[in-house]
Amino acid sequence: MKQYKKFLLPALMLLIFEAVAVTLWLTKDNIFYLFNFSYIGFSVALGIFLYMKGYKHARRIVQLLVGLYMLVYLGLIKNENMQIEGFWYYLFTGTFEAAVIHYAVAKIFGPLIFGRGWCGYACWTAMVLDFLPYKVPSQPRKKLGWIRYVTFALSLVFVAALFLAKAGNIEKIMFWAFIIGNTLYYAAGIILAFAFKDNRAFCKYICPVTVFLKPASYFSLFRIKCDKEKCVSCGKCKKVCPMDVDVTDNSRKRLNATECILCMECVKNCPKDAL
Ligand code: SF4
Ligand code: SF4
Ligand code: SF4
Repeated sequence: MKQYKKFLLPALMLLIFEAVAVTLWLTKDNIFYLFNFSYIGFSVALGIFLYMKGYKHARRIVQLLVGLYMLVYLGLIKNENMQIEGFWYYLFTGTFEAAVIHYAVAKIFGPLIFGRGWCGYACWTAMVLDFLPYKVPSQPRKKLGWIRYVTFALSLVFVAALFLAKAGNIEKIMFWAFIIGNTLYYAAGIILAFAFKDNRAFCKYICPVTVFLKPASYFSLFRIKCDKEKCVSCGKCKKVCPMDVDVTDNSRKRLNATECILCMECVKNCPKDAL
């Protein structure tokens, strides 16, 4: 029985994604959803399984499997704009498809269950940023988080302006918005990472999606907790955290509580198995 235990959590995760896949396939009468959510569910389940087997690159494997699928297959080949501009676009057209479903599952309601798991395991921007050398921030966090509200507002204003101006060939504009938007995000993310010596600086200060992710992840069901009986206050967990989370404080109001990307670096590095 014991040898099957390591399959339980990945199997449960696969089951949850399969339930979403089958429900959307049948309700939307579109087999794409069966393929899409089965693939993502398989990638996540594989990552959990590898993590449980102690494979140190498990998270990176999921990031590449999901991130490349969304960026290359959905974005470039299928012309689905999965960025925030794509979300506004489909929302304004009243289409409950593609980016709207993606945002609902991964970024608006999903974080109530799995917090900012999207940021740790699936985002194609972070997929590249995590290759950079500054995995742990060497400087204190800056008070620049307000920039995310500006980029959020700009994305909304951009798409609203296209509709108000009754722009022609809006689908083509959205495709180019996807290409240019991604290029700008990657450029800003890489420049900031080197400037602040912090791979995740873009996530902390610029990313507009965090305006959705942060409030929902405050209530997240899955969160890292500290066993105070085991903890010896060595501080190692905070030193390795890429997002400056005060993970030994179990309250939901802990410092940078809504920044945790569930990367498990703190768990892996705790010498007392307190997390
Ligand atoms: S904060 Fe934004 S860029 Fe960073 S991982 Fe999350 S969604 Fe991606
Ligand atoms: S690494 Fe473990 S023992 Fe050390 S402070 Fe963090 S939770 Fe406590
Ligand atoms: S190191 Fe721990 S607290 Fe920090 S982001 Fe990763 S999982 Fe969250």
